[in-house]
Amino acid sequence: MQIVKVLIEYSNRTLNRPFSYIYKGSTKIKKGVRVLVEFNHREIVGYVIDVEESNLKIEQIEEQSGYQLSEIISIIDKEPLLDDELLTLLDDVSSYYLAPKISVLQAMLPPSLSPRKSSLKAPKIAYDIYFEVIDDNEEDLTNKQIELLRFIKQEGRVLKRDIKSKSVADKLLEAGRIQIIKEEKRRLKIPDYKYENPPKLTEDQLAVIKEFNESNDQVFLLEGVTGSGKTEVYLSLSEQVLKQGKSVLMLVPEISLTPMMVEYFLHRFKDNVAILHSDLTPAEKYDEYRKIAKGDCRVVVGVRSAIFAPLKKIGLIILDEEHTESYKQDTLPFYHAREVAIMRGKYNNAKVLFASATPSLESRARGQKNVYHMLYLTKRINNQRLPTTKIVNMLDYHNIDRDSYIFSHALREALHQTLAKNEQAILLINRRGFSTHVNCRNCGHVFKCPTCGIALTYHKTDNMLKCHHCDYVEPYPDTCPECGSNHLLKTGFGTEKIQEEVERLFPSAKTLRLDSDSAKNKTKIPETIEAFRKKEANILIGTQMIAKGHDFPDVTLVGIVLADIGLSMPSFRSNERAFQLITQAIGRSGRKEKPGLAIIQTYMPSHYAITFAARQDYELFYRKEMEMRRLQFYPPYSYLTSVTIRGRNEENVIESTYQIVDFLNEEFLEDAQILGPTTPYIPIDMGFHLRSILLKYRDPEKARKILNKMLELFGSNSQYEIFVNVDPYNF
Ligand code: ADP
Ligand code: ZN
Ligand code: ZN
Repeated sequence: MQIVKVLIEYSNRTLNRPFSYIYKGSTKIKKGVRVLVEFNHREIVGYVIDVEESNLKIEQIEEQSGYQLSEIISIIDKEPLLDDELLTLLDDVSSYYLAPKISVLQAMLPPSLSPRKSSLKAPKIAYDIYFEVIDDNEEDLTNKQIELLRFIKQEGRVLKRDIKSKSVADKLLEAGRIQIIKEEKRRLKIPDYKYENPPKLTEDQLAVIKEFNESNDQVFLLEGVTGSGKTEVYLSLSEQVLKQGKSVLMLVPEISLTPMMVEYFLHRFKDNVAILHSDLTPAEKYDEYRKIAKGDCRVVVGVRSAIFAPLKKIGLIILDEEHTESYKQDTLPFYHAREVAIMRGKYNNAKVLFASATPSLESRARGQKNVYHMLYLTKRINNQRLPTTKIVNMLDYHNIDRDSYIFSHALREALHQTLAKNEQAILLINRRGFSTHVNCRNCGHVFKCPTCGIALTYHKTDNMLKCHHCDYVEPYPDTCPECGSNHLLKTGFGTEKIQEEVERLFPSAKTLRLDSDSAKNKTKIPETIEAFRKKEANILIGTQMIAKGHDFPDVTLVGIVLADIGLSMPSFRSNERAFQLITQAIGRSGRKEKPGLAIIQTYMPSHYAITFAARQDYELFYRKEMEMRRLQFYPPYSYLTSVTIRGRNEENVIESTYQIVDFLNEEFLEDAQILGPTTPYIPIDMGFHLRSILLKYRDPEKARKILNKMLELFGSNSQYEIFVNVDPYNF
């Protein structure tokens, strides 16, 4: 008899231990397969993490363990889903992030393969069915049959669905002249790209590659200004690694925003590339995952979760735009792809390359201390200059355009010039919607989200009020629900309003808008980007989505409509975010022959995040911001972990949070700063009340011990749940 330890999904934390089941069948159950088990009178999918043989009787085992054991209902997989490396990674991620193993498993596996409460709905493998000739003897065949036989022979093989006369084919099958071939089909349709000869690498690119190859270090940080040709470096390094018989993991922040990166890889490596991102259907994800696991693809291009791709023999892991926050998952297990990349790099003895024009402070500081090996690309390709930039002080009314309170003279004039030259412009406003607040002029009522409590944004396109945190929407009312007045005031502006203003001021210009509203439709983002690249529009208006990675040759003007958005957000990262966003946005201008210009409108013209971004000076910003972090004891000078308590009863949540704070104070003594209980920016989540504790400390080992103890003591309360977020972003 086999005793099987099974992980199952259950919201309560105490279940971060496996459950034991018995299996009496003769099949040997392997570690890493899924099984169907009964739990709480329901059939659910569980995941096997250990198997023991036992000669004892069931009663004896039950006596030892102290509870009744039930039997495995059935075994789902023949072969383990995770190999030894990924099983080790499961442990490492779970212990680094203090996260339940089941949550790590769910992050690791595509949804159709991961163990869930619901039972099994995995997509089936799809096949292509072909006919192939095995005997070309034409004796006794009809003319029709001979015709088809010759056709199949000439073609080599023919898809069954391409053959019109099924009955003729059936006869040939019966007569043993042809046979059926089944081949696994890849549902993700990938265009057949032509191989493009790589450009001759520049001296700078060659130097970076040489330094990378000659070093024995494991983790590298490439700081390369916008347009310095980082992509070509990734491609060359990948080519080398493939030649050595190893595989490559290429991570990008978001595929729909950077279709070019995928294209570059497909051009170079064709069907050796698998693609993993969130817009794939479950069936497509399943196919891609299997292709990788079987070793059919040795290059994976994907988003955050692709860091768990079942690639074997990894030789290189690259994270493009490593500073991007989408690499951090903001739900359990709260992992960051950067940390996981390092873990996988160690296991595989593979090199890891992080790259950005504006590296995260944490990474750059590690580079400073030689924990990461720094590499630099300081010049744009062909020595194209970085764009000229201009900061416009919007507090000074002399600077503001007479016809529009949103535009400065400078930006309006620059737009005019750009249009006159038939070049293109990008306008960045990092806020979607039309206006940011709606309130009643009569009684002051502010329209707020009933679940989150934050102000609702007006969206003109569909005349709705929307919450930008949760999914809440309501039709825009004509009157105030408090006093019935119809004097409603819309203040603040977002992308929709800017588009309207541009169309009013420049009636002949063609505009496109890109924000997460337009992203609701899966194909909208790549279509919009493609349309803009083809110059079907002169001006692209959008949120941070348009700031990243794009390479539009004809864009010579970038206007940052309001640089201050974000600077006032209550986070120690707000300066860093603002600097990165502005620098990245400016970097879209003047990337080919024509010189670029960038205009930055702001109410804080002397804020260092804005002035250093305008100068495209990462070094100066880095030094200044490091000084601020040191003074305030924030990362990279400290480590952070947040603990969030979530429960139905607000008072209970507050009281419990105080108990946990007391516990942490006693355990850490002077070794951590403990802030809280604090009320999060969004205090309510789907009817649950939230309170947080923020820990700042220097010794991560000690913290891990204490936090584990905390979870043991407080983690199994039925009144509330505890979420631990190691290296959190939203504080
Ligand atoms: P980054 O990612 O550093 O912002 P890209 O990789 O997008 O920069 O490169 C900028 C532009 O330079 C792209 O259009 C790319 O095709 C081109 N490029 C890169 N390397 C070379 C090269 N060696 N020779 C010619 N053009 C190049
Ligand atoms: Zn009112
Ligand atoms: Zn909401």
